[in-house]
Amino acid sequence: TKVLLTGGSGFIAAHILEQLLAKNHSVVTTVRSEDKASKIRDAYPSQCASGSLKIAIVPDIAKPDAFDEVVKTPGLEVVLHTASPFHFKFSDPKRELIDPAVIGTTAILRAVARSAPAVRRVVVTSSFAAILSEASFGDPAAVFSEASWNPVTIDDIHSSPATAYRASKTLAEKAAWDFVADPAGGAKFDLVTVNPPMVFGPVVHYLASLESINTSNERIVDLFDGKWRQGVPSTGPGLLWVDVRDVAAAHIKAGLEIPEAGGKRLFTTAGWFSNSEIAAVARRNFPEDADKLPTEETKGGEMPPAQERFGFDNSKTSQLLGINWIGLEKSVVDTVKSLKKIEAQQ
Ligand code: NDP
Repeated sequence: TKVLLTGGSGFIAAHILEQLLAKNHSVVTTVRSEDKASKIRDAYPSQCASGSLKIAIVPDIAKPDAFDEVVKTPGLEVVLHTASPFHFKFSDPKRELIDPAVIGTTAILRAVARSAPAVRRVVVTSSFAAILSEASFGDPAAVFSEASWNPVTIDDIHSSPATAYRASKTLAEKAAWDFVADPAGGAKFDLVTVNPPMVFGPVVHYLASLESINTSNERIVDLFDGKWRQGVPSTGPGLLWVDVRDVAAAHIKAGLEIPEAGGKRLFTTAGWFSNSEIAAVARRNFPEDADKLPTEETKGGEMPPAQERFGFDNSKTSQLLGINWIGLEKSVVDTVKSLKKIEAQQ
């Protein structure tokens, strides 16, 4: 199958790319700089030589015509749209988060509808951020599922950086469903969204550096930097996680392998996690780093009791995808091993 993957330099997309190529699919991926393009080229010399991997530079996804050229690549059948800002280092949330998220999503859908007639399905990487409701984090009566929508609006984007990010994902996902629902859009493809919570897992060595680690793995870098030694930080309100390899597999199953996924939101999660559990996994598996890690007595980051946290139900997604979710122990261990490999290279 010929697949267009946007944002191929991303933490999640790098795993999607690896799994697609391992399954002998043909991939066109977009990145925003030549520097990232050359790193990917160097990692996959034979696929680039044979033409099964092509890299296109799309410098700014917040332009409505950003994807107009790349979607004209002959024979595209499936599009996986992962590119979207995930960081909290912005000063203007509208320009730096909302626009690339929302305009980027509508730009790719419009371009596909106009110029890529063979595309049968588009998968958009959304997030648990588009499912949750901030007001219900502490409410055990709330049950977040594939049917839940974050009520956040554009008016909320200045209340906190996390809220701004959640709004960017919610508004982008809404825009995607609105686009395919509107006959005027001319979409001949169907849509699937993948909605992961916090994603942990190994980083690909050819793209990552410890200084610019992807946002969701930052806490594991901090842990091995000694930053949790005096106190484990709060886990945050999200409390759900999934391994990056499962998220990548979910995109490929949803896009290429499971026709019935069309029109669905996929709530991909392995379940609960807490920072104190991550610290315990680290202690058990990396005794050589004991001097940097918190001890069993170090307080903080504990899982809130069940009566103080939301409920969730992703059974529809688990059933549809048939993924046996990777567990926290393996995920954290593999993440740390990948970080150590990068450190050794630097
Ligand atoms: P990364 O930051 O590693 O990847 C983000 C990707 O989007 C990169 O390819 C990045 O390009 C690209 N990108 C970001 N901003 C822009 C922009 N303004 N213009 C063009 N490209 C841009 O994060 P993840 O891999 O974690 O995120 C991938 C997707 O998954 C995002 O849609 C994110 O919202 C979603 N997600 C992630 C979760 C997580 O915990 N990691 C959880 C839920 C959803 P570049 O490499 O050049 O920076």
